[in-house]
Amino acid sequence: MISPQETLDGSPLVLVEGKGVYVKDIDERWYLDAVGGLWNVNVGHNRPEVNQAIIDQLGKLSYYPTFGKTSNAPEIELSVRLVELLRPEGMTKVLYSTSGSDAVETALKLARQYQVLIGQPRRTKFFSLKYGYHGVNFGGLSVSGNPLYHEVYEPLLPGCYQVESPHLYRNPWTDDPEKLAVLCAQQLDREIAYQGSQTVAAVIAEPVQGAGGVIVPPANYWPLLREVCDRHQVLLIADEIVTGFGRTGQMFGSRLWGVKPDIMCFAKGINAGYVPLGATMISDKVFAAWTAAKKKAPLMHGYTYSGHPLACAAANAVLELVVRERLPDNAAARGQEMLEKLRRLAAASSIIGDVRGRGLMIGIEFVRDKKTKQAFGPGDPEMNRIAQACLEQNVLVRTLANRIILSPALTLTSEHVDVIVNALAAAVAGVEAARRCT
Ligand code: PMP
Repeated sequence: MISPQETLDGSPLVLVEGKGVYVKDIDERWYLDAVGGLWNVNVGHNRPEVNQAIIDQLGKLSYYPTFGKTSNAPEIELSVRLVELLRPEGMTKVLYSTSGSDAVETALKLARQYQVLIGQPRRTKFFSLKYGYHGVNFGGLSVSGNPLYHEVYEPLLPGCYQVESPHLYRNPWTDDPEKLAVLCAQQLDREIAYQGSQTVAAVIAEPVQGAGGVIVPPANYWPLLREVCDRHQVLLIADEIVTGFGRTGQMFGSRLWGVKPDIMCFAKGINAGYVPLGATMISDKVFAAWTAAKKKAPLMHGYTYSGHPLACAAANAVLELVVRERLPDNAAARGQEMLEKLRRLAAASSIIGDVRGRGLMIGIEFVRDKKTKQAFGPGDPEMNRIAQACLEQNVLVRTLANRIILSPALTLTSEHVDVIVNALAAAVAGVEAARRCT
């Protein structure tokens, strides 16, 4: 995010066209989009199948609200498809919205109402992880774990608490992943008990933390998270806005860890960014609170554009491609290749402290000193130089504090992997040479 003042300096990169993993700027220059839009253009830009599905739907019905008892054909088709895809997780009902932030808001409100309906109205609090990112609306912001996003918008929603995330590279306790997961899960357990279990509605977390710096939890963490939630009868919400639909190399991030959440949030990859769409899904256990309620319990929540026919039509076409082209498998294979090559680069580099990720969700952490792990700060020029050097080699990467984030389309080939890694290697070599001279 940049400051409004910065928008006055220079001009943005104006993009006019996309094709597969490439985008073209106004000066006819093509770039390899190693960011994949914003972790979302999973099937690549400008896919004819998706374009046609949107055009076809536009010729039939461009919009009608889905409040009350109205629906539309793509919305119904998508709901059936999602329930089928999420059968292993047991998600059976879906509520649509228009972004990831909205999908999270919907999840938090559903969790609160669920607790009221099952006779636990005091269960209003939320727990989440440090470094977590859950969107920019007040609910999602309140459960996000980055103080920088909070500062100027406080006071936020009361009763939201962040506990330690199992961050292997940056934690003061241990280098042992399994032990770290146990320590972090125990802390959550203690904090929920301290707040009073009977006052906590839900825990929300990302299966792999994205904007917080691509933090991959140890394999035993999510199963422990599920256990803690069950012990305190608290709902588990998986924010799958980045991890959903293949990015991690599995169709869903929760599936990486073999965990069934109670509520799941989607956006981004659900239709690869072609038309804004968010979705929140719930299990039968959660839905049963409504069916078992003695009085009718309306859901006082919904958006004008919930179930938008164009967004749903795009999602149907995108998800067909994701399944037909086995994009989760490709993400796993290309991600593994990229991680191995980047780790070799890191071993020979004086400023790459850590390379981590799962599938095509990769973070490279840059440090001034590999021993102390001291990060580059906002005043240091290195991160901008790396991104700029990649741009000059026609590769778009994203910088987030002292990290470079890579989240390209899941259609990436091995040749594309080499282009990205070679651009980064040259960029890093340039920065290291400049540091040696100063
Ligand atoms: N949750 C997660 C995990 C995200 O990464 C994001 C966006 N990057 C959001 C929620 C919010 O989504 P949106 O920007 O579509 O509102």
